[in-house]
Amino acid sequence: TTHADVAMYEAMDHGKNTFALFEDTMHEQLLERLALDNDFAPSLEREEFVLVYQPLIALTTGEICGFEGLCRWDHPVHGRLAPDKFITLAEESGRISALGSYLVRQACKDAIRFTTLTGETPYVTVNVSPRQLASTEIIDSVYDGLGEAGLEPGRLVLEITESAMMLDFDVALKHLEGLKELGVSLALDDFGSGFSSLNLLHKLPLDVVKLDRLFISDVTSDAGAGQIVRSIAGMCQSLGIKALAEGVETREDDEFIRSAGFDLGQGYYYARPADFDDAVQLLRRSEAA
Ligand code: C2E
Ligand code: MG
Ligand code: MG
Repeated sequence: TTHADVAMYEAMDHGKNTFALFEDTMHEQLLERLALDNDFAPSLEREEFVLVYQPLIALTTGEICGFEGLCRWDHPVHGRLAPDKFITLAEESGRISALGSYLVRQACKDAIRFTTLTGETPYVTVNVSPRQLASTEIIDSVYDGLGEAGLEPGRLVLEITESAMMLDFDVALKHLEGLKELGVSLALDDFGSGFSSLNLLHKLPLDVVKLDRLFISDVTSDAGAGQIVRSIAGMCQSLGIKALAEGVETREDDEFIRSAGFDLGQGYYYARPADFDDAVQLLRRSEAA
């Protein structure tokens, strides 16, 4: 990545009419970005990228039925970095495929470890970025990850976003169908946050729809928002797709999504993302309750 590239990305981030100026703060950001970019390849080798796991709750039983795998970078200098610090960078530098296939392998292995340690068979999800869905590599890396770990394909869920379908719809759809043929499940992430074509719900081979947390944050205060969320849950049900509510933070949110007919819930109200060992404890406790 050159200075010019970074300036261009900044300009794109800030809209077409903005010229990217090398002001002090931007220069700092640039240096930070270049430094992180340089660190990337060795970090992948040193296994500094880890998955933390946030429980997904089956609302009928209240038990943990799966975990979303969320990436963190345990950087030797900057400490633990959240994905907003490095996922875009990885996409822009073309390293997202390498990181993505590493994380799929890790998630498959961790799914097996969950079972070895608890006897339970939760599923695990991995987030797939739009760039990854544009290449057939995603199919190979999922196939390899499942095979290497010996994981039943039905226990792996790939989370895709609406924006993944915006690049080249037909290509992305072909890759989704290839993934389905391997036996994995597909979830549409952050539904309602972007262009939200309702068409996607029946055009894509989806198993789960994850309703964006911005919707859930409004439901208890805004009757209109509540009505929309109920309708989406109903629509998913009639299409045979599981409905998951993201960002459940309060008891009221939890009560609302239960009454609205959601199948699954995720959010700080149940549990925050946790290191693998802590996730194992959460799973044990969930089953004992
Ligand atoms: P996402 O896939 O929608 O993940 C959910 C995000 O919401 C997570 O943030 C999670 O910590 C946060 N969250 C969960 N429950 C609550 C809640 O009740 N309230 C609030 N306010 N937030 C909640 P995180 O881990 O920082 O991830 C942010 C985004 O980064 C993810 O959004 C996903 O788009 C991306 N990401 C994370 N890991 C990966 C990865 O391995 N690969 C790719 N391509 N993207 C990833
Ligand atoms: Mg996700
Ligand atoms: Mg999400």
